[in-house]
Amino acid sequence: MAGLKICIVGSGPAGMYTAGAIVKKNPDCVIDILDKLATPYGLVRAGVAPDHQTTKAVTRAYDKVMGNANVRFVGNIGLGTDIPLDRLRAFYDVVVIATGTPKDRSLGIPGEEKEGVFGAQVFVYWYNAHPEFRDAVPNLDIDTAVVIGNGNVALDVARILMRTENEMVTSDLAEHAASEIFKSPLKRVHVVGRRAPENAQFSSKELGEFAELTSATTYTDKSVLPDGFTSDDKKEEKVVNTNLDLLRSFEHIRPGIEGRSIHLDFLASPVEILGDNAITGVRFERNKIVDGKAAGTGETYEIDCQLLVSCIGYEMGILEGLPVEKGIVKNDEGRVADGLYVVGWAKRGPSGTIGTNRIDSQNVVERMMADFEGGGDPAKKGPADLDAWCAEKGIHAVSFDDWKRIDAAEIARGGEKSPRRKFVRTRDMLSIVKEKG
Ligand SMILES: Cc1cc2nc3c(=O)[nH]c(=O)nc-3n(C[C@H](O)[C@H](O)[C@H](O)COP(=O)(O)OP(=O)(O)OC[C@H]3O[C@@H](n4cnc5c(N)ncnc54)[C@H](O)[C@@H]3O)c2cc1C
Repeated sequence: MAGLKICIVGSGPAGMYTAGAIVKKNPDCVIDILDKLATPYGLVRAGVAPDHQTTKAVTRAYDKVMGNANVRFVGNIGLGTDIPLDRLRAFYDVVVIATGTPKDRSLGIPGEEKEGVFGAQVFVYWYNAHPEFRDAVPNLDIDTAVVIGNGNVALDVARILMRTENEMVTSDLAEHAASEIFKSPLKRVHVVGRRAPENAQFSSKELGEFAELTSATTYTDKSVLPDGFTSDDKKEEKVVNTNLDLLRSFEHIRPGIEGRSIHLDFLASPVEILGDNAITGVRFERNKIVDGKAAGTGETYEIDCQLLVSCIGYEMGILEGLPVEKGIVKNDEGRVADGLYVVGWAKRGPSGTIGTNRIDSQNVVERMMADFEGGGDPAKKGPADLDAWCAEKGIHAVSFDDWKRIDAAEIARGGEKSPRRKFVRTRDMLSIVKEKG
């Protein structure tokens, strides 16, 4: 596959590991990494919690890939909005879709359209300064929030809502979100999962952080905690038992709790969102586990709340020219069609950690190499074709050097304690580029 012209759409972990694997095995391939945003690295910037800065250090490895002579970052150009897929396929020998799964999965219950109801993507993007969600500002003049889901994203959302300004000084929480969150009179957050505590997908590190919150106490119903958990999968057994120990260390739920609190509730599914225009509560059905699955008991209860964030997963939206099935791009081990591949969450769905994408991307690159043993099409000009397209359409593409200027300006704005103060408007980022360019 010597000298192929390759376009990777999406600069998140999957796109970056794909580029890294190609560079390592075929350094003379030319790679353009497109992103609809002016900022690279996908959910590492826009998803990973702002108080989890060490996780974001993975970007140093991605910087090295971007610094390769045959790799370009071409930010601020969206597939489907600025350029259609058929053009990219005409310009490059290979197009790799690495867009992640940019759409929240719906709960599928009545009332989801009400004011105050958000998907995790919207809510997380809002507090992480994603430009498309700057104005999705929820009203946080509320006393109770409900977070649906039993994974790390649900824990992130609950924790960020309850952290104090002091606890967030070393974070890069978006400024507009910080001002809403810190002035909010929020007293209670319920994190509700449909399955049992031993089925929750929390990692122990994230669950353990609830014991350290300075202004909120965590409660759970200890009567539903099993004495222990056994599994043939010893790794899983260890994680679940650590989580159960952590849950036992929290306070037991009781009536009349005063003060700021987080409630970790299990075995309940939302069945209806209540209220007229805006949410005033959620009706839940209690569940029991039957053959390892959550089944409704018919018994219902309600939680009064003014905010609901649903953290139940993501899916691919519609992109012209891409076959989407069951929320992912339809593929055969990463291959979609001749010269068209998919990696990361767009390929597998929204599960796994940043590192999971590495081996997966490497496998798809192996497959690509086998498909292109004979080389590419010399008529395809790759980067030159894309540049001509951008010039014709008046698209201001952001290069890696441009991003480094934006990055430096954000870091400078961060002051002494915060790692950065993010720009949220693309126009503000572009003005930094023009100013110093
Ligand atoms: C809220 C949240 C928190 C997380 N926290 C952690 C954590 O702490 N640790 C951990 O290991 N994992 C974490 N993960 C998981 C991790 O982020 C994912 O495994 C990983 O980001 C998936 O990589 P990806 O490249 O497939 O998708 P993404 O990271 O979503 O990257 C997709 C990229 O494609 C771009 N894009 C999308 N559509 C287009 C388009 N039409 N045109 C051009 N570009 C486009 C996007 O702007 C983005 O840059 C978290 C996930 C979420 C949702």
